[in-house]
Amino acid sequence: MPSLNTLLLVLQAATSPAQAPQLAAFKQEAVRDVASRAQFTQQMVDQIFSYAELGFQETETSRYLVDLLRKNGFTVREGIAGIPTAWVATWGSGKPVISLGSDLDDIPQASQKPGVACHAPLIEGAPGHGEGHNSGQAVNITAALAVKKIMEREHLPGTLQIWPGVAEELVGTKAYFVREGVFKDVDIVLFSHVDDNLATSWGDISGNGLVSVLFSFQGKSAHAAGAPWRGRSALDAVELMDIGWNFRREHLRLQQRSHYVIPNGGDQPNVVPPTASVWYYLRELDYPHIQEMFALADTMAHAAAMMTSTTVLPPRILGSAWPGHFNRVIAEAMYENIKQVGLPQWTEADQRLAHALQRDIGAPDSGLATRLDTLRPALKPNERTGGGSDDIGDVSWNVPTVTLRFPSNIPGLPGHNWANAISMATPIAHKGATAGAKVMAMTILDLLMRPELVTQAWDYFRNVQTKDIKYQPLIRPQDRPAIELNRDVMARFRPQMRRYYYDPSKYRTYLEQLGITYPTERAADGSCTGGATP
Ligand SMILES: [Zn+2]
Repeated sequence: MPSLNTLLLVLQAATSPAQAPQLAAFKQEAVRDVASRAQFTQQMVDQIFSYAELGFQETETSRYLVDLLRKNGFTVREGIAGIPTAWVATWGSGKPVISLGSDLDDIPQASQKPGVACHAPLIEGAPGHGEGHNSGQAVNITAALAVKKIMEREHLPGTLQIWPGVAEELVGTKAYFVREGVFKDVDIVLFSHVDDNLATSWGDISGNGLVSVLFSFQGKSAHAAGAPWRGRSALDAVELMDIGWNFRREHLRLQQRSHYVIPNGGDQPNVVPPTASVWYYLRELDYPHIQEMFALADTMAHAAAMMTSTTVLPPRILGSAWPGHFNRVIAEAMYENIKQVGLPQWTEADQRLAHALQRDIGAPDSGLATRLDTLRPALKPNERTGGGSDDIGDVSWNVPTVTLRFPSNIPGLPGHNWANAISMATPIAHKGATAGAKVMAMTILDLLMRPELVTQAWDYFRNVQTKDIKYQPLIRPQDRPAIELNRDVMARFRPQMRRYYYDPSKYRTYLEQLGITYPTERAADGSCTGGATP
């Protein structure tokens, strides 16, 4: 930040205590306003649930959100970083620039009727919101509109920016947003993500960063029975690479996670596969270890090519994520707001759905969270055991960032699964999103009214977080977003899915549109039909 700005911030900070009663009043007003928008929030959650789009193919979802934001006075730029479903919406002017992000995309084969506590796909094999990414934009947009109303009336300076985590399940875009300069003038990023509690944290995440890489092999086709000696199988190379990796895995650090799928294993058995490819997620705790794994996988690929007399093409990076590190100052301020908002009031029906599902899938029968999570302090290096990734990590190493987790889901579920979709268009998700929006609105107001917070957040960012570790993107200059991913799958299912798009002009909720009794449990005969559908 320029020094003039810093000076201004110091001057404003000096007047801050006098603003304390006003800030408290604005927060109360914002909380009431968010509560009054509960139906608006519910409609967004249900609408995006019904679109159920996979990463890079969030066309209906993005069109809907872009329209909604424009109607509410935001200026929207589309096609960010060459990604058709990416956009950045802004409103307001001047500093601070508060940036709100949340993911959009869903999970393959996770189609599920909401409110039904057993496996009942809406459409067999179709994608579904089995992670709950249909709820975060509702949190951010509801909060932004409540704060915008106060900013307009009070002539508060500041800019609100809203953006989607496109293709988060592919960790496919946020590093490109960084490269594109989306966060260049941003002071603070507030990210929101679905969870089963209302929480935030600071310091290193317990999970991993990763690089997502496609290894493709080129062989020679031949009649697999008539002249197999004439052929060189690219699939053999894929299999040998995987075998090599699985042996080597024993001698990798315990913190690593690595997994693969074979998107191209050949065409049909009587043709020696001339091309084949394997897609790896290589996860580790930090940039040097991720790069080490990538180099090792590359060695395996070359060795497999040598064994099979095939060639390996240059590896293609399909996605990447730095391991996240969240800002202490903002997390602590946010947690004060979390304590004030508290968990939603769950009804007996909400708890019944949660218990029924937990029993059905063999998870601990805890019901929904009724006690707030504590503010988790920074993990010590030996407490970081590895796990999932989110490319918000890239953002967090460029701008002070925190993630608000809000209680729209049920504890104890496997993740990336139909079970995680069940609560996501029910009162559980709706109330969780409203609770999240309240915290988000209060935290934005903190940042607008207490400029010293922004200064202190940057102080932590510069002098603690990035003192020894500097961001270097995992994407290389030649890499481009893998925007073609999921195109075929969405094209296959979209015609069937259209029949299930939510129509809020006709139905108060999506459950009502689907004719589902809330909650629906497995029938006495053990079947799971999951109630009516249109
Ligand atoms: Zn997610």
